[in-house]
Parts: sequence; structure tokens; C-alpha cells
Amino acid sequence: MKDSPCIGCGAILRDIEGPVHDYMESSPACWSIYSDVLAREYGDPELFTRVHRITVDSFAAQHPGRASAQSIQSVAVHLISLCAILEAGASNDWATKVIREAVGVKGRFAWLQPPKFLGSLTVSDVWRANGRAEHERIVKEWASSVWVAWSGHHGTIRNWLSSIAGAISVPNQSSEPTLSSVTSPAGQGSRHP
Ligand SMILES: [Zn+2]
Repeated sequence: MKDSPCIGCGAILRDIEGPVHDYMESSPACWSIYSDVLAREYGDPELFTRVHRITVDSFAAQHPGRASAQSIQSVAVHLISLCAILEAGASNDWATKVIREAVGVKGRFAWLQPPKFLGSLTVSDVWRANGRAEHERIVKEWASSVWVAWSGHHGTIRNWLSSIAGAISVPNQSSEPTLSSVTSPAGQGSRHP
């Protein structure tokens, strides 16, 4: 059986038949591996709490697909979530609230032309992890590598996060923004105190 690169993340994986996602374009093997990784996280509440948010964000950002309405929104909101967590120090729960708020307005985002190189780690590295601690460590490294790969668009993504949350300056989880700051109307310039 021969190997080939995933159309999204570039991971060299076996050519297999199988389902793929509608717009997060990947090879069938990569989609299958991602499903296994998600199953591992669903089966381990602690792992789920710690890294599931950035697992989903990283996979979506590394498999941007083409400039459809769904892809434009998917790429935008998952990069916004990575920005919130990796740069603003937001909690996973807060990032999920930002995503929920972000998808509420149609046409809010523009297509971000994906970089040619989307990160040095892929979901297949997470899949090969041995045990919970290694899984967690690799997911975090993977997320960082994906976020760095999109650096040409960081300014746009930070602006989107600011307009949604008004809270990008909040530095850490101990003083994370509240839901009310997330749901305040965008563009009023109000910042979380
Ligand atoms: Zn892939």
C-alpha cells in the first residue's frame, strides 16, 4: 500500500478509502486518525478538559480547505480561539464562548489565504503519543506550530478577537474575561477592566 501527503496538513499517511470532512479537506487517513484522537479525548475527561479545545482548533486551522462560506468561518473562528488561548492566556471554556459569539454574525470574516506550510506537527504526531501526558504535551506543541504557521495573518486574527471579545489584553486564566464581556456588542471599544 502506498503513502501520500494529506492535502491539508501534509502528513505522509497510508492511502486508504474512507470518509473525509465536507470542508476541512484532508486525506481519508488523516481524518481517520483525527477521529481516533477525538475518541481518546472523549474517553478521558481530564484530557478532554485540558486539550480538546485546541485539538479541534488545530485540526481545523491545519485543514482549511477552499474559500467557501463554511471554510471562511471555520478557519477564522478556530484561529481566533488559538489566539485567545495561546496569546491572551484565555481558558478553553472562554475560547469556546468566543467561538459561539463569533459564529453568530454571518459574513463577519474574510478568507485568510492559507500559508503553504501549516506547521511542523500534525494530528498524526498526537495519535502516536504514548499516554495522557505525552498526548497533552504534543497537542500543545502542535497548536503552537499551527499558530506560528499562520503568522502572516496574526494581525487580522487579533483584530477579530478584539472586536468579538473586547478582551485580548486579558493576560491569564486567573483574571479571564467574563461572559458579559464576550457578549458585549463588537466595535464599541469597551475593554475588560
Ligand atoms: Zn491532515
